[in-house]
Amino acid sequence: MSTSQRTVLAPNLKNSQTKRLILLGGGHVHVQVLKHLIKNPLPNIETVLISEEPEQLYSGMLPGLMGGFYIAEQCQFDLPEICARAGVRFLRATANGLDLVDKTVATNCGPQPYDLLSINVGSRPALEVDDPRVTPLKPLHFFYDRWLKILNEPNSRVAILGGGAAGVEVALMAAARLNVGSKRVTLYEKSNALMRNLPPRAAQIARDRAQEVGLKIVTEFVEPISKLSEENIFLALPPQAPVWFRSTLLKLSPAGFVAVDKNLRALGHENIFAAGDCIEFTPSPHAHAGVYAVRHAPILIQNILRVLAGDQILCDFHPQSDFLHLLTLGGRKALLVRRPFVFASNLNWRFKDFIDRKYMQT
Ligand SMILES: Cc1cc2nc3c(=O)[nH]c(=O)nc-3n(C[C@H](O)[C@H](O)[C@H](O)COP(=O)(O)OP(=O)(O)OC[C@H]3O[C@@H](n4cnc5c(N)ncnc54)[C@H](O)[C@@H]3O)c2cc1C
Repeated sequence: MSTSQRTVLAPNLKNSQTKRLILLGGGHVHVQVLKHLIKNPLPNIETVLISEEPEQLYSGMLPGLMGGFYIAEQCQFDLPEICARAGVRFLRATANGLDLVDKTVATNCGPQPYDLLSINVGSRPALEVDDPRVTPLKPLHFFYDRWLKILNEPNSRVAILGGGAAGVEVALMAAARLNVGSKRVTLYEKSNALMRNLPPRAAQIARDRAQEVGLKIVTEFVEPISKLSEENIFLALPPQAPVWFRSTLLKLSPAGFVAVDKNLRALGHENIFAAGDCIEFTPSPHAHAGVYAVRHAPILIQNILRVLAGDQILCDFHPQSDFLHLLTLGGRKALLVRRPFVFASNLNWRFKDFIDRKYMQT
């Protein structure tokens, strides 16, 4: 937060007219905004959270939830409840457009006017398939519902498409849980390398663990997906920007993410912020990862408050070049990657468990 060390907790409004702040999407960043508002309510601001689902599952705990180490209530934010405590109206609706002239968000519950808008709608997998066997990992609650059904289907098989970190975590946990007696889980990755963004040693540890839990890894470009014979197919493909962004006049990156400046402000729009997976941070693009979403939060909170207060000076976001990775390895064991360190242990899992629980409670 380099621009100014002064921290604004609640804006000192310069006029008494009520303004309308819309928080679009209940992602990691907006959950932190809501938590700030619980402690520092916004007088004279009508704040609305628009979310397509009332619960927000925390992805970091999803593998542990699949493994039965947690119950769902421990891993999800109850958005209407948090909103109620923050003095924010919760609107269950799906946004599908934006009118930048009228300053309204188009939703399936009608247009929602805003004075200030913050967008945190995450990303979607880069493939949409009309096949009842196929479920993307995101939105997480659809994935988790499917997982619960699979637990009651003793013979059904599972394919996971995509060997990035999320695909590997989910595949290892699925195999550890389901491969009792027969091998039911296969991970498909078109390249020969798993988790390409991490050091090669991390992929080797994942492969060794795959052998232990009986996870089959197939190096194949699967096209079309209908070729696969598994009854359940999970897509763990690279994140894609929501398609509806393209129908707006927002400036987008070539891949369709909202282009934001150093203050997380949509390029060319003083009254629109965006954060989390749905953005491209134009000063220095970074990965789409929850770690960055969490780090956007304090900057976004400050900048929303400053704009509401009529401040001209905003905080800058400075992405870190690398971060600590803790990946569940199918069971109470985790891989830690913090260059140059790469190792797996049960202690890593306990460390991850501690961090994740703390994140949910603060
Ligand atoms: C299995 C798995 C494990 C992962 N583990 C890690 C990890 O350990 N570390 C890490 O850094 N990252 C991890 N990730 C990535 C991480 O989940 C994302 O980077 C993170 O969720 C992005 O947060 P976000 O706030 O941008 O959006 P999200 O958490 O995706 O939240 C977006 C919210 O907006 C809502 N929404 C979407 N569209 C609309 C709409 N049109 N109208 C209304 N509401 C809408 C969604 O329902 C959702 O609630 C993991 C991902 C997966 C799938």
